[in-house]
Amino acid sequence: MARCRKPTDQDLMRLDAIAKHLKVRARYPDSSFNADVTAACLTRIAPIIDNLFPCTGEQIGLALGKHLCVTFEEVHDADDVEQIEERYLRGKREIGFAQLRAELRPEVDALLFERMYATHDEPDHWVAVLNLQGSRARAYWNRFHEISHRIAEPPQGILPFRRHRFEATNPVEALIDSVAAEIAFYGPAFLPLIKRQRMRHARLDFNVIDAIRQDYAPSASLLSAANAVVKHWPAPAALLTAEYGGRTHSPDADRALRIKPQAYSKRATAAGLMLIPNMRVPAGSPINEAFRTGTEQGAAEHLGAWGTSQGKHLSPIDVYTSARRLGERVYAVISA
Ligand SMILES: [Zn+2]
Repeated sequence: MARCRKPTDQDLMRLDAIAKHLKVRARYPDSSFNADVTAACLTRIAPIIDNLFPCTGEQIGLALGKHLCVTFEEVHDADDVEQIEERYLRGKREIGFAQLRAELRPEVDALLFERMYATHDEPDHWVAVLNLQGSRARAYWNRFHEISHRIAEPPQGILPFRRHRFEATNPVEALIDSVAAEIAFYGPAFLPLIKRQRMRHARLDFNVIDAIRQDYAPSASLLSAANAVVKHWPAPAALLTAEYGGRTHSPDADRALRIKPQAYSKRATAAGLMLIPNMRVPAGSPINEAFRTGTEQGAAEHLGAWGTSQGKHLSPIDVYTSARRLGERVYAVISA
């Protein structure tokens, strides 16, 4: 996760309001603050989700939206903006929606409106507008992000929320994202699917991830589904992305296919499965082959063959690597 910038006074007020709203004793930046806030949010929603069991992530999103009176509106193109304006601005005289057009800049993922003229329990008391004009990939994640704002924050005075993609360093947004991660892939509903696949497959590859994603959250992006599967995989596993680039501090030097570690399973560290950020992918790795050919690759490899120009090497363990190229990026899962 990106390191957070120094919080502003407004951030601190919001973080304090979250703690009070959820009756959490820890305060930002206590070490247990994120975990305590996340646990308090999960306690609040558990009774709603437990009623649905067994259920998928998509069903959890629908049920929480309904419970919290949040209606989701998706914007794919200009026609959608027009329709939302028609429905809320002209149809329901909600003047907040006059800002919609101006606020839906490309870097804004979603906007959350509280309607002025809605009764307390109307299903669209809150309207979350998801900006999917650039890509549909974040639709699932952003739905849970907005739901998490509603669960964690007291409703008054801080709306509409605006989400900027480059705000991952904002401490409030980072906190909301860690809550969203737990709700979007809610352990008690998600883990049984992982266990079932683990019984059928000794190693983790993209076919396994596709199957779990299809069953649990088909609208989730490959990256968010792979992240969740790898974190919960009950054996050593790691997820990385690889792109063409240079050295960390001199992006034009030594350009090559280099990696960004994304997630590890709990057992990865003990098994020695740890990666070095921005290291080069060795020529013999299936990751290189997937990048070169554009076709999905899977093969055994020896991690000891991975080294850096400073002479560091990864642990000498045998792993299985599954790699898939999407656009200019390769996604890879490594399992031991
Ligand atoms: Zn947000």
